[in-house]
Amino acid sequence: MKYAVSLLVFLLAFGSIKAEVKLKVRIFSTSTIRDIDFEVFSGKYEVLDSSGKVLGVLEKKEIMQVRCFGSLMVLTKNGDTLGIEEKVELRSAGFLNIMELTPVRPSINSRVYDDDFILEIIESNTMRIINNVQLEHYVAGVIEAEAGIAKNEEFYKVQAVSTRTFAMKTMYKHEAEGFHLCDQTHCQVYKGRCSKTEIMIATSKTAGQVMVDDNGELITAVFHSNSGGQTANSEDVWGKALPYLRSVVDSFSVGQRSYYWTKTIGKQEWLDYLKRNFNFPTDDMLEQKKVLGFSQPYRKTYLTNGISLRRIRQDFGLRSTFFSISTEGDVVTFTGRGFGHGVGMSQEGAIRMAKSGYTYDYILKFYYTGVEIMRLEEMNIN
Ligand SMILES: [Zn+2]
Repeated sequence: MKYAVSLLVFLLAFGSIKAEVKLKVRIFSTSTIRDIDFEVFSGKYEVLDSSGKVLGVLEKKEIMQVRCFGSLMVLTKNGDTLGIEEKVELRSAGFLNIMELTPVRPSINSRVYDDDFILEIIESNTMRIINNVQLEHYVAGVIEAEAGIAKNEEFYKVQAVSTRTFAMKTMYKHEAEGFHLCDQTHCQVYKGRCSKTEIMIATSKTAGQVMVDDNGELITAVFHSNSGGQTANSEDVWGKALPYLRSVVDSFSVGQRSYYWTKTIGKQEWLDYLKRNFNFPTDDMLEQKKVLGFSQPYRKTYLTNGISLRRIRQDFGLRSTFFSISTEGDVVTFTGRGFGHGVGMSQEGAIRMAKSGYTYDYILKFYYTGVEIMRLEEMNIN
């Protein structure tokens, strides 16, 4: 037993060293930044040129101004020029290194980031700012920016494992551009350092943990708002069957905020739509019956005659494909359940499970069929 405990301690310590995976995340990625100020919020930074030479040191509260002049950046501190460069790195040199960034041109609200930065001119008068951030700092930041809604530690753990898995799975998306991830929904929304203690705790309690499939490959951890009581198979939505994205009966989503919806349209509009888009024989009364009354006690893929529910959802802006249809007089009513594509984890279902006392690993395995939770250092990533 003593051996087991010391081995565990060793693994945890070892794990924390190896788990310091860093990601290069492009920040302010939709803005054309020309001028920006860096103020050391905590710790200390060294400013290095592209050959690794130290141009200067920034202590707490000190500000470095970076201004674009064509293909070069001019770096100043207290009016003194530190350097005129195409590319520089701001490297952590203290304890708990945090920087506040304030874009001046264009003027954007300040944001606070952990760890290191790489600044580079990518075209005339435009700089690219990369936050070279520890994975765990990034994960906590994403949870806060993207979905810090539950205020429940167990659900934050669910989000931490999903966010980390997603980040590691997609970290080569921007490889050709010289960084890993952007800070928009294209990758995951990231607006800098996490400020909520509960999120930081949940992230560190699950540090390094990711979800893998039967082959030990990282999964695509997709989620949606509410499954409507049954999640969808991946192939029914995206055409590709994945063993961990199987339809499951999900009573946890039932009755939650986005569970139920309705939408009405005119009967003639509905019939005209079907005729126009699918050449549906609307004059045939028997056929008409199929599209004026339709029920989905369980998830289906088609209305009838190969007309996909996905297409209808898209064309009418419906919240889900999990709907039934009824007609009264000239009005057609869609009565639906759930919100979103329905594949993978239902966020509202997972929040309810977490609040009911289910653990994060149980919740993840409930929505992602057959997955295992592993630590990154047990895999051969890096
Ligand atoms: Zn991206």
